[in-house]
Amino acid sequence: MNKSEKGNDKDCQEDTQDLMQSIIDATDDLIFVKDTSFKYIAGNKAFGKFIGRPLSRIINYTDDDWFASQEAVDYFRDWDRKLFSSGKTQDIEEWVDYPDGSKVLLHTIKYPIYRDQQLMGLVGVSRDITAHRRADELNRKTSDILEMIARGKEAHEIYDAIALLYESRHPGMRCSMLELSDGHLLHGGAPSLPQAYCDAVHGLKNGPDVGSCGTSTYTGARCLVEDIASDPKWTDIKDAALPHGLRCCWSEPIKDSNGEVLGAFGMYYNHPALPNDYELQDLVSAARLAGIAMERDHAQKQIRNLAYTDELTGLGSRAHFYQFVENLIKTSKRHERHFSLLYVDLDDFKNINDSLGHDSGDLLLKEVAARLLKASRETDFVARLSGDEFCIVVLEVDELSSITNIVQRYFEELSEPVLISGRQHVPTCSIGIAHYPDDGKTLSVLLKAADTALYSAKELGKNRYEFYEPELTKKADCRFQFEQSLRKAIERKELSLVYQPQIDSYTNELVGVEALCRWKHPELGEISPVEFIPAAERIGMIKPLTEWVLYTASKEAIDWMSLEGRKLRLAVNISPTLFLDHDIVSLVKNFISESGMPPELLQLEVTESVVQTDSKNLEVLKKLKGLGVGLAIDDFGTGYSSFASLKHLTVDCLKIDKYFIDDIARDAHTRLLVASMIDIAKNFGHELVAEGVETTEQVEILHDLGCKNLQGYLFYKPLGSDGIADILVH
Ligand code: C2E
Ligand code: MG
Ligand code: MG
Repeated sequence: MNKSEKGNDKDCQEDTQDLMQSIIDATDDLIFVKDTSFKYIAGNKAFGKFIGRPLSRIINYTDDDWFASQEAVDYFRDWDRKLFSSGKTQDIEEWVDYPDGSKVLLHTIKYPIYRDQQLMGLVGVSRDITAHRRADELNRKTSDILEMIARGKEAHEIYDAIALLYESRHPGMRCSMLELSDGHLLHGGAPSLPQAYCDAVHGLKNGPDVGSCGTSTYTGARCLVEDIASDPKWTDIKDAALPHGLRCCWSEPIKDSNGEVLGAFGMYYNHPALPNDYELQDLVSAARLAGIAMERDHAQKQIRNLAYTDELTGLGSRAHFYQFVENLIKTSKRHERHFSLLYVDLDDFKNINDSLGHDSGDLLLKEVAARLLKASRETDFVARLSGDEFCIVVLEVDELSSITNIVQRYFEELSEPVLISGRQHVPTCSIGIAHYPDDGKTLSVLLKAADTALYSAKELGKNRYEFYEPELTKKADCRFQFEQSLRKAIERKELSLVYQPQIDSYTNELVGVEALCRWKHPELGEISPVEFIPAAERIGMIKPLTEWVLYTASKEAIDWMSLEGRKLRLAVNISPTLFLDHDIVSLVKNFISESGMPPELLQLEVTESVVQTDSKNLEVLKKLKGLGVGLAIDDFGTGYSSFASLKHLTVDCLKIDKYFIDDIARDAHTRLLVASMIDIAKNFGHELVAEGVETTEQVEILHDLGCKNLQGYLFYKPLGSDGIADILVH
């Protein structure tokens, strides 16, 4: 090779080297080459930049020359040795400190270099995967937090987790979440901020110049404060922040999915600063994540509130009450504590509801709830279980006398007169009292005991309280048995009917009969309808019972009428409960079309309570009249708004109650009252029947007053079907 060839060769080698350098400089990955004595023999531009030196000051140097920590140097060297001893490629992920102190995560692959089969060094290629790894980590931690939200973890736990997540991404940063409630900032979560600072912020009213978070929740827009010490927005509250070293605060409003502001996410540093892109991005995403958590928490609270509060009265709901007592039993068991349960039921509430309408009923319930609350002590828990039933848990009562005092206070508070629909009403209630643990160790047993005591208070005349006694359980069991056999008797149609004639006392002619129900209990014998009709109402069997009465009685009435070809009015009692169940119209309609009973011969007897002024009741009465049947007001004069009812109604007949007839011969006042009733009936064009006539003296007086249709033992006791047939035939 001549000299010029040699020169060419050299030029060529230099060109190749330049080209190689340009190629490796083209990538952002760090490329470096070391010989077996760990000395750098080549590198690219990116590597030079990473180390912070020109290549000329890297080549022929070792890691000892720029890494301050011996630990780092040993670490790199260990991997190099591994490669040199094994001759195998090494794949490493390593956190490396930049000379400026920041850390990067490098993914490095080191390859062995051979020349003439001799290992002469290594080439390393490193890629900065910090951002990638951080994004992965953010995704993973975000999904952990979303899972916490989905699993319904406590809000403050979630808020803390969100704060810690973003703090871990920005060393030195401290985060806070504040909830907005009625324009006030409430502490949500700030695990790294000092308690004293959180306390100072808690409860602040937001506004256009109330720090960063008070401002951002007020304006609904981001608020970046570079220096708390000098920013006018912090003038009034900087003294709470500066002593803790807080210098800058950036706040992003937390919004729900409708864009409504729920709170604010705050980021703090101990030095004045504005956020870089990376921090700003995180501020936005942190607020978004906090928004999901907060919205969910609000929804949960709302659901809990709905389930735990009685909508009408605002008292605790049945569900709340159950949970409260169950928890109380657990803690009382542990600490051997006692408590009492008062089961409160308004007296005659149904009457108010039926006569004045449900709106008035609701008003009364609200008033009662407010009074119970007023009478309660701080530790009492008052709940509405349903309708007019309330339960009060009275804690820490050991003395029998003190529970009596407490109950007395409830009675007194409740019995103040109240104006409902323009009328004065004095509410009264009955209360059953049971004690934990003597009367029951579980919620259901305790509740049953209180309910049993309540029933006893009702039976003993209402407007009183009764303590539970084991004896009462026996009574309750008997009642249950009684109700069960009544149910069976109605289902199996084992009741019977008798008919009490109504006669025209001028002519002694039969004008109608009233069907009256009878039940012979297999063990107890004959039971009065006064007892079993309310029981049938209680167990929801009044409808099948009435259907049976209507069909059975009408079938017999049709038979009697065919005997002598005489028309006879059939009166059937309709209980108020059934009347208020508005099915009554369809029931009677079906009955008329199926039974063949001429509707004008059927007279439905309803008590005064249902013929009151409530428009719904009037509507039902109108529809019944539209079907062509007659309506009688039973026990007229004993209800409490006889005159009001007459104003609105077209009834056919008033039945003067036995209560008046009993006294008519003895008492001039009663006579006067009956005379007035008769006058009213005549003036309104209503028919009249006097009930419970037992003496001729009564008949004479009624005659004098002009009442001719009478019903009573003096004429006939209630008779079996044959008895009526006999009267008709003879
Ligand atoms: P009510 O509708 O006022 O029926 C009149 C009650 O007074 C009947 O009692 C009848 O036997 C009784 N009575 C009639 N005249 C005299 C008398 O001169 N002296 C005496 N001491 N009593 C007399 P009963 O049959 O015991 O019925 C009582 C109540 O039971 C009825 O009062 C009615 O409200 C209810 N009832 C009876 N059967 C039925 C029924 O099928 N359905 C409904 N819903 N209630 C019924
Ligand atoms: Mg009747
Ligand atoms: Mg009656």
